[in-house]
Amino acid sequence: MNMGRDFHMAEGEGETGYVNNSTHQRKALLETGAALEKAVREVYLDLLQPTMTVVDLGCSSGQNTLIFVSKVIEVLGHASSNKQKSGCGLVELQFFLNDLPGNDFNHVFRSLEEFRKSTAAEHEGNTLLLPRFYIAGLPGSFYTRLFPRQSCHLFHSSYCLHWRSQVPAGLEGGVKEYVNEGNIYIDQTTPPGVVELYRQQFQTDMLLFLKSRYEELVLGGQMVLTFLGRKYEDVYNNGYLNHPWGLLARSLQSLVEEGLVEKEKLDSFNLPVYTASINEVKAVVAQSEVFDINHINLFETSWDPHGDLEGDEIQNSTQSGINVSKSLRAVLGPLLASHFGESLLNELFDKFAYHVAEHLEKEKGKYLLIGVSLKRT
Ligand code: SAH
Repeated sequence: MNMGRDFHMAEGEGETGYVNNSTHQRKALLETGAALEKAVREVYLDLLQPTMTVVDLGCSSGQNTLIFVSKVIEVLGHASSNKQKSGCGLVELQFFLNDLPGNDFNHVFRSLEEFRKSTAAEHEGNTLLLPRFYIAGLPGSFYTRLFPRQSCHLFHSSYCLHWRSQVPAGLEGGVKEYVNEGNIYIDQTTPPGVVELYRQQFQTDMLLFLKSRYEELVLGGQMVLTFLGRKYEDVYNNGYLNHPWGLLARSLQSLVEEGLVEKEKLDSFNLPVYTASINEVKAVVAQSEVFDINHINLFETSWDPHGDLEGDEIQNSTQSGINVSKSLRAVLGPLLASHFGESLLNELFDKFAYHVAEHLEKEKGKYLLIGVSLKRT
C-alpha cells in the first residue's frame, strides 16, 4: 500500500463522494469550535508580525476545511476589532490547506471564489474588521516536514491523525503467513504481537508529527487536533464501541465465503489506522518534550451521521445502516478499491449496511474522538 498514491477520500460531487458524505467530520469540527477559538485568540495576542500563518492538515475535498477557514477569519476579525495590535496594523491571514498528493485539491480550489463572495456578503454592513486572507494548497504527508522553520502560528487537523503513515511493517509485503488473519484492524482474534506493531507505528508517527510541527511553529505556536480514539486502555475491550471496522471485516469474510474474494486478499489487508487512548496520547506528547497539553478530552458521535446520541432507540436501523455505509465508503472506498478491485465495492457496502443495521438493533454505535490543544514549548 502506498499512502501517497492509493489513499484519498472518494472524489467528485456524486452520491458516493466525500463532499456529500462528510457530515460526521463536520460535527467534530463544531464540537472543537471553542478550543479553536481560544487558540486563535491566544496566538493573535502573541503575534509579533503582521501576518498569521494558519494550516489545516488533512483538509480533504469537502466544505469542512472552508468552515474551519471561515471560523478563523471570524475569530480573528472579532479579536482585532477589540484590540488592534500596535505596530502591526490589521493582521493578514495566510492559510495553507494540506493533504496527501492524491487528494482532490481542485475541488477545493474551484470553491474558493464562491467562498470569498459569500464571506464578503455575510459580513457586509457589520462593523467587524474582516482580515485579508490568502489561501494556498500544499500537497504532502504531515508525517514529513512541510514548512520552513518557525514559519507557522497555528496548526489544525480534524479527523486525520488516526491515519498512520503506513500499514505497520511486518503486516504486509512478502510474508506468506498472515499474522492478522480474517481481520482488517485490531479485533478479538488479533494476536498481541500485531497490537504491538500498531502501537509502535502510532508512536513513531506521532513523534515524527510532533517534532516536525515543533520545528515549523513559532515560539508559543499552537495546535488543535481531533482524531478517532478509544475509551479503554485494553484494546480488546473496546469491541464495536469504537468504530464499525470489525463489521466491515465481517462483510469481507462473507464475500470470501461466497467465493467473491480470495481469502488471501482479505488476510493480506490491514487498515493503516490506530485509535489511541487519551493516556497513549499524553504519553507520546510527554515523550516528544516539545509540546504542553492545554486541554484534552474524549467525546462521542454516533456512527450514523444523521443520527444522534440521545435516547436508546434507533429510529430506523435499516436507514442508519445505509447512512453509516455511505459515510464509510466515502472514506475507505478508494483504499479498498485499490486492494480488492472497484467492482467489489457495491456488494461490499451493501453487506456492510446490513451488518451495521443488525448491530444497531442491539446497541448504539458510537465513534470516540479525542480533542487535544497543544502549545509549543
Ligand atoms: N479535515 C477534513 C478531512 C478529514 S478526512 C474534514 O474534517 O472533513 C481525513 C483526511 O486526512 C483525508 O483527506 C486524508 O487524505 C488526510 N490524510 C491522511 N493521512 C495524511 C497524511 N499523512 N498527510 C496529509 N493528509 C493526510
